[in-house]
This record gives sequence, structure tokens and C-alpha cells, in this order.
Amino acid sequence: MAMSRRLVESPLVVASHNAGKVREIAELIAPFGLEARSAASLDLPEPEETGSSFVENALLKAHAAARATGLPALADDSGLAVSALGGDPGIYSARWAGPTKDFALAMATINHLLGDNPDRSAHFVCALALAWPDGHAETFEGRVDGVLVWPPRGDQGFGYDPMFLGEGAAETFGEMDPAAKHAISHRARAFALLVAACLGD
Ligand code: IMP
Repeated sequence: MAMSRRLVESPLVVASHNAGKVREIAELIAPFGLEARSAASLDLPEPEETGSSFVENALLKAHAAARATGLPALADDSGLAVSALGGDPGIYSARWAGPTKDFALAMATINHLLGDNPDRSAHFVCALALAWPDGHAETFEGRVDGVLVWPPRGDQGFGYDPMFLGEGAAETFGEMDPAAKHAISHRARAFALLVAACLGD
């Protein structure tokens, strides 16, 4: 396998307009001494997510931000895949919350569609793309399996966290403190692969 390119430049643009994601990514990169600049603070436009996979959408966002800023950029495309719904909402996880980003509604929609289906298994997926201004990119994918509970529990985290109970966990992602979520989350798993490939010694 070809060697991955190492990330030595700082600052790093975090190519996301989702405040929950930006916060989690900032927490994950902090120990590596990289300065993070958010897409919102740089006034970057939000590119349309026209890809047909998490990785494609992460690449679209990372390339656009790296090109616009001349800096390396890290983008996250992620979502919740519900087994009994054929993997929905998947890459459309943000869109299911509508223009007002109403995740109480998105969670209620999923619960309604599941009805009394005994299969409440689901997983979160996170694709990270790290792109450089010269067009080079590296991608990493992480996943965490769990089940969906109802009613939602907890007000930590973001998005679908309050209804997601990781395998073997007693607390939903919405109830866990950030450090506990970072120990097992899809985003943390993708980030660990990035660290090993591009930041490790
Ligand atoms: P996108 O990657 O910007 O298209 O949006 C992904 C959407 O998936 C988010 O808006 C959340 O609704 C959901 N999502 C992704 N990661 C998480 C997570 O860690 N917890 C809860 N919801 C998540």
C-alpha cells in the first residue's frame, strides 16, 4: 500500500458548518497541537453534497475548502444507518431534520417508520477526508454499532445521539460525556486511522 501523506502544515481548516461536528473534531485534534479554523470563521460556502457515499461527500467538502483557502482541510461526512430501513437515513441524515435542523422530528420519523419492528439495530458511519491545496487527499472511515431507543435520552452531543445506544453501553450518546463518546464513536475511530496514517510518529 502506498504511504499516506503526513500532515505537517498548520492551521488546518475544519470544513464543516455543523457546530456539533466542529466541536468534536476540534477536541480530537487538540492533542496534536494543530490549530483548527472552522469553515464558518473563514466564511467558506457550503458545497452541495452530490456524492453517492459518505467518502465521496467528505472528499467534495475537503477539496472545496482546501482549494478556497490554500490550506489543508479536514471534512467529515457522517450519518446514521438504520438496518430495518435499508440503511436510511444514511447520507441523507442531515436532510431528514429539514431546513430547521429539527432532530427531535428526525428521530420521531425514524421511530415512527420502525413501528413495532423488533430489529432496532443501527450504526453510525463517519468518513473523514483530508485534502491538500494541490489536490492530494486521504480518506478514512469509522463505524459504531448499536440500537435505537425510544424515547430519546440525554442532551449532550448532537443530531441523533439521544436515541443511539452503542453496543454494550448503558448510556445513549446523548447521555455520555464527550470523553466517553470519543472513546468509542465512529468519528473517533475514523480519526484514529487518520492519526496512524498522517499524524503518528
Ligand atoms: P452531514 O455529514 O453534514 O451530511 O450530516 C451528518 C448528519 O448525521 C448530522 O447532521 C447528524 O444528524 C448525523 N450525525 C453524524 N454524526 C453524528 C453523531 O456523532 N451523533 C449524532 N448524529 C450524527
